[in-house]
Amino acid sequence: MDTWKVAVLPGDGIGPEVVDAAIKVIESTNRRFKIAMVLQSGEAGLHCIERYGTNLPEDTVKLLRNSSCVIKGPMTTPEEPGSETSAAVKIRKMFRLYADVRPAKNLPGVPSIKKGIDLVIVRENTEGMYSGAEFAVSDQAAIGLRVITKEGSRRIGKFAFEMASKRKRHLTIVHKANILKISDGLMKNTILGLGANYRNVRVDDAHVDAMAQWLIKQPELYDVIVTENLFGDILSDEASMLVGGIGVGPSANIGENYAMFEPVHGSAPKYAGKDRANPVGTILSVKMMYEWMGYKKAAGAIENAVETAIKKGVKTQDLGGKYKCSEVGEGIAGIISRARV
Ligand code: NAD
Repeated sequence: MDTWKVAVLPGDGIGPEVVDAAIKVIESTNRRFKIAMVLQSGEAGLHCIERYGTNLPEDTVKLLRNSSCVIKGPMTTPEEPGSETSAAVKIRKMFRLYADVRPAKNLPGVPSIKKGIDLVIVRENTEGMYSGAEFAVSDQAAIGLRVITKEGSRRIGKFAFEMASKRKRHLTIVHKANILKISDGLMKNTILGLGANYRNVRVDDAHVDAMAQWLIKQPELYDVIVTENLFGDILSDEASMLVGGIGVGPSANIGENYAMFEPVHGSAPKYAGKDRANPVGTILSVKMMYEWMGYKKAAGAIENAVETAIKKGVKTQDLGGKYKCSEVGEGIAGIISRARV
């Protein structure tokens, strides 16, 4: 059997703590399901800039290139103009990780705005406003480029249709084509045009501002939502708040030959070193890694263990519990070890 090489970048702030908790879950899962996997840690993030002059040192790039995928903790990104591009954005571009998959699903025992939420946001990850292509015209004006291409729209549209056809067969295209008629018009019409190949999938569309309120009003009506980079970033934070908060949101960044798994949340510096961050978003991202690798039973065992732990009250403060981040990781890992397959 081949051994999977998985790179691990713990990141900044609460990153090392949530990633440590997820590693306990990985070790337990690999033992239980006899999966051969080597985890190799690398440095990346704000803390690298002083030492290496970059948030993604050359050795880390080599490590990534020599691995099948990467588990990435959140990283702090400076905001000053001219400062480093976020390491996540660099990795997405380097490996053309064009689809950012961000599920939001009710967790038993976690207060939620509505029941029956089980949706996935598929965010285009390489184009749009979020790619950060911007410049100052003078000290009075600045321009940000929002590039949308037919090929990028086709690629993400196909990915989203494929996913919808294996789920509840409903795809919603989110855009702002009433104002961004040319760019979002291109994206919307390109994706709609793919519908002929997926006749079993019901397709509709919504403006992004309307979608922000529909997600709160009727989130249970949605299945797969496909959208542009920045819209997807914002809506996926909103979607994770619907089902228990930003600490539980997982994500998978998928390309043709590589993938990156990371929680939706950031480095939450105020909680760094306090062992109180919620590791569930990172642990569910690891669950998505096993799905991507084709280990459906292992992925299912992680999801069940997360649900069991939360039902038993093994949860962090943000979910109303009193457990530490490390204890939640150990609790979930322990449930996987003891579970019957
Ligand atoms: P954030 O997600 O770090 O934190 C916002 C708030 O959400 C926190 O103050 C905290 O109250 C809560 N929170 C977040 N994660 C949590 C967890 N696991 N458990 C419990 N509560 C949690 O967002 P921010 O404050 O906008 O950003 C902080 C830094 O993170 C910035 O430098 C930003 O650039 C970076 N960031 C990185 C990523 C990434 O690496 N993928 C993503 C988003 C933000």
